[in-house]
Amino acid sequence: MPQEMAFFRGNIVPISEAKVSVMTHALHYGTAVFEGVRGNWNEAQNKLFVFRMAEHYDRLLQGCRMMLMDIPYNTEDLCNITIELLQSCGYKQDLYIRPLAYKSQELVANLRLQDLDSDFTLMAVPFGAYIDAEGAIDCTTSSWRRIDDTIIPPRVKISGHYVNSILAKTEATLAGFDEAIMLTQDGDVSEGSGENLFMVVNGSIFTPPVADNNLTGITRDSAITLAKDLLGIEVVERRIRRSELYLCDEVFLTGTAAHITPVGSLDRRPIGEGGVGPIATKLRDAYVEVIKGDNPDYIRWCTEVPLEG
Ligand code: PMP
Repeated sequence: MPQEMAFFRGNIVPISEAKVSVMTHALHYGTAVFEGVRGNWNEAQNKLFVFRMAEHYDRLLQGCRMMLMDIPYNTEDLCNITIELLQSCGYKQDLYIRPLAYKSQELVANLRLQDLDSDFTLMAVPFGAYIDAEGAIDCTTSSWRRIDDTIIPPRVKISGHYVNSILAKTEATLAGFDEAIMLTQDGDVSEGSGENLFMVVNGSIFTPPVADNNLTGITRDSAITLAKDLLGIEVVERRIRRSELYLCDEVFLTGTAAHITPVGSLDRRPIGEGGVGPIATKLRDAYVEVIKGDNPDYIRWCTEVPLEG
């Protein structure tokens, strides 16, 4: 039987024992950095693969550096801890893996990052589709603008800055849409609440530069690589204006949770033909094959977790 376990204070324990105090700094101020990593179960191969694990931990450690957070592990240590945790859980299904580095000091009235203890915790839960929609999704332009690098660094996954994404996603879903598209302070397209954004025009793919305040997405990087190297499609990073999305041929979103998700409409206007576009389909099929460990050319992106049985 799979068990819900967590890595907590240096040990693997049942998740019910992984508890922090209400005095914890991160709980009050969002002074934490997290990751979302996927474990993908391949039924035919009877194997569990973690996708681009080292890249996720490199980004976590960048966030730690930004937040003056010292944790006593490097990327290799964190990968080994993850494998150990997944082995002790024993899940044989698709997983969402959540590493969290946080200011663990039990001290509330303190707005400095220096001289505060930090810790690292990790958990994994069974996880299927993130966006609950068949085919293409319906998006809206958020009235919440994406946080700017002059406010909170958006390129790393700092917990506190997720209030921005949460406000946008809440507004969109309360209004009946599946996802929000956020603009920068200047009105350029930035990204979805939890996904990077791509647009297709005349057979070429465009995506905003990371400097337009989106997260340095690992799925974004994978999509760019697969589009160029596997599908032979040109990918251009450049500023994108909102009105371009209304007139383009396809829009799709990329993220660890969302995979590659085609957008069928924006602000109730159909994009292209209004359904799942041909380039998004090709890229999504290629991506799913890669993350499942079924494409030998990209097996370097997949870490197999040796499981019993
Ligand atoms: N943007 C935001 C705001 C996100 O939360 C995520 C999910 N991590 C992404 C983009 C996509 O990043 P990745 O492909 O690394 O999951």
